[in-house]
Amino acid sequence: MLVNPVAPIIQAEPWQVEAACAEVGPAPWETHLGGISDLNRHALSICSGCQVRQKCLDFAMRMEGSVRTEARTCIYGGRTPAQRAALARRRKKAA
Ligand code: SF4
Repeated sequence: MLVNPVAPIIQAEPWQVEAACAEVGPAPWETHLGGISDLNRHALSICSGCQVRQKCLDFAMRMEGSVRTEARTCIYGGRTPAQRAALARRRKKAA
């Protein structure tokens, strides 16, 4: 059972119960003005040890291009919004 919702994720996904961010709260995963804060770096370090990192990234990539605010501003799967946008561009080119 989650103490708090998985930080950057609003929509319930079964793998969230294993998320390393589940008990931290959302603030470290929120980016502002395109920059990366010390708090964001802390979030990225938590993501790096998260056992559902790939599922989280897959989830985020399905939202890529979405109008949902968290999809544009939050860290998911150990990647910043800018990194996910770059990954989406690479995948599109490779397709
Ligand atoms: S990869 Fe990061 S954002 Fe995703 S569930 Fe794990 S800790 Fe949370």
